[in-house]
Amino acid sequence: MDVTEHPARQFKLKSIEDYESFIGGESVEGILRKAERLRDMHVVNINSTYYGGGVAELLSSLTLLMNASGIRTGWRVIEGRPDFFSITKKMHNALQGAEMNLTPLKKQIYEEVVYENAVRMHLDHDVVIVHDPQPLPIIQHYRKICPWIWRCHVDLSDPNAELWKYLAPMIERYDAVVVSLPEYAQKLHTPQHFIMPAINPFSSTNKEMSDAEIDERLAHYDIPSDWPLVVQVSRFDRWKDPQGVIEAFRIARKEVDCTLVLVGNVATDDPEGQEVFESLCDCAEERIRILSVQDSALVNALQRRAAVILQKSIREGFGLTVAEAMWKGTPVIGGKVGGIRHQIEDGVSGFLVEDIEQAAERIVRLVKDPRLRSQMGTCARETVRQRFLMSRLMENWMDLIGAFETNFRLSWRVET
Ligand code: UDP
Repeated sequence: MDVTEHPARQFKLKSIEDYESFIGGESVEGILRKAERLRDMHVVNINSTYYGGGVAELLSSLTLLMNASGIRTGWRVIEGRPDFFSITKKMHNALQGAEMNLTPLKKQIYEEVVYENAVRMHLDHDVVIVHDPQPLPIIQHYRKICPWIWRCHVDLSDPNAELWKYLAPMIERYDAVVVSLPEYAQKLHTPQHFIMPAINPFSSTNKEMSDAEIDERLAHYDIPSDWPLVVQVSRFDRWKDPQGVIEAFRIARKEVDCTLVLVGNVATDDPEGQEVFESLCDCAEERIRILSVQDSALVNALQRRAAVILQKSIREGFGLTVAEAMWKGTPVIGGKVGGIRHQIEDGVSGFLVEDIEQAAERIVRLVKDPRLRSQMGTCARETVRQRFLMSRLMENWMDLIGAFETNFRLSWRVET
């Protein structure tokens, strides 16, 4: 039975046809033709959390869209003890340039937990896509009869050399590596591809909301609506620089009346989140609200209602929150790093900043000038419409999988 088409289903999956009003009929036709070529392929994605963070957000939407287009696409999540996720979080940090004490014990726990997951995970697919460092070694435990792709989402502009040396032989077992930007390319024998993430305009984080619905969400969390809102939505993670956001806000507050809302969640594969959240709590006051919740309708409401969205990251693989806010016509002040630089055109569709003082100055400017906000917001939404919708992401993946499909059908598949 095809679950995507069952007549009794009360839930209707969004399909590529639903993107027509955004991308036009011709683009939809082109994507459908590509999907037809891959119809009934069986693809699996493997990552390490079902929610919290951009990878889970991407996979929940992309896997459904691909199934709705006839490509059977699954999503498996590896399990692990807290010590495993503590090690993989350190790896995540080290891939973004931090120091790491990579001991033999850490390597052993990492590889052993991934091996145990491999034993439980029976794979018989046409393509396997493994996301980020947590499940990376899993490839070592399978006889490879199809293409395996490692999709790394982090900011790889300056990875820790020792960690990279340890991971590189595992990475090179893959048939392709996908990173978000050309500047993340590494010295590897494996071919590297560049695909930027994208947002789902129909998800609860991004779908249209009425003013009444927005009011209801803000009231539910007791968020004051008398002064303009300055908001950052992010996992509680030091790379997102929440402390810098608070400092920038305090400087800006000397010149304009506004309320800061920091809203964040803690992913199941991120054991540092709670500590970062707690370290900020002392800064909370009437005009600085700090919320740790998982509520995508609240994220949506804040991104719509905010006068300014901040994403003051120090490192950022891509930064879905930036595209999400831009889609809602809200100007974003982003750190001039990683994927944020590819989304915001400085001074046109938002601002790129290098320090706290610049961030404060841009907050003041935007809060004071509704016309500038509206101009930038219009430009921001158009940028996302053209470049950062999920329809484009699905097409990129189909192109990559399609290229393998041809190669593997001609060579490897026939022999196995
Ligand atoms: N997010 C959320 N609630 C929060 C914080 C973040 O739903 O409190 C979502 C956010 O809307 C976005 C994703 O988590 O879709 C974060 O992705 P991003 O690429 O910005 O950062 P990552 O967490 O992957 O580093």
